[in-house]
Amino acid sequence: GRKFFVGGNWKCNGTTEEVKKIVSTLNAAQVPSSDVVEVVVSPPFVFLPVVKSELRADFHVAAQNCWVKKGGAFTGEVSAEMLANLGVPWVILGHSERRALLNESNEFVGDKVAYALSQGLKVIACVGETLEQREAGSTMDVVAAQTKAIAERVSNWANVVLAYEPVWAIGTGKVATPAQAQEVHDGLRKWLQANTSTEVAASTRIIYGGSVNGANCKELAGQPDVDGFLVGGASLKPEFIDIIKAAE
Ligand code: 13P
Repeated sequence: GRKFFVGGNWKCNGTTEEVKKIVSTLNAAQVPSSDVVEVVVSPPFVFLPVVKSELRADFHVAAQNCWVKKGGAFTGEVSAEMLANLGVPWVILGHSERRALLNESNEFVGDKVAYALSQGLKVIACVGETLEQREAGSTMDVVAAQTKAIAERVSNWANVVLAYEPVWAIGTGKVATPAQAQEVHDGLRKWLQANTSTEVAASTRIIYGGSVNGANCKELAGQPDVDGFLVGGASLKPEFIDIIKAAE
């Protein structure tokens, strides 16, 4: 079975005080055990040390990005080996905000995923189509091309979680319907089946992101190929705990 996975992507938000408050709320929460759900929160880089040190032991941290190769003369970047050195187990790569606003290409994201894995990090790799692409009927082609650029560079998928985040659903309040999410997750799993292996297709978690909240998470979680969530806005609120509870 694929263990349910709930990630909280805090994006570029928070002060030290706010971050500590979120952590103490999470620390006090009654949630299903780590045998049932894997919980990972992703603060901005500067807050990783404080969150890592204060967060309960059954929850883990993720960075929101890392550099594409070994560190060096790359001003402003943070390398995968620095994250590993800090004891940060996870990194989010290929988020649509970085693809769109920072022009990260499919190939560049694929290179990042491969390099992060080589440094011992686990990766939440994001894919997703824009509204224009969906309306043109090219959703599956877009997410397949994004996934292909990763699959061409990665042979071991054990440390990869695939996050399907339709761009039109991110931060808009327009959540994908359970049927829309299931259709793409099923398509991605079939793509993995055809292009990697039966084992990878069966075991890789495919999580959904885009306007997930405490009210819509349960029905989404009931879809056979929805193995969890990547949550933005609601991960900054106590509501995140309700989303974790959708695991059971
Ligand atoms: P929202 O949950 O705010 O729509 O953001 C989703 C997201 O981008 C998570 O990575």
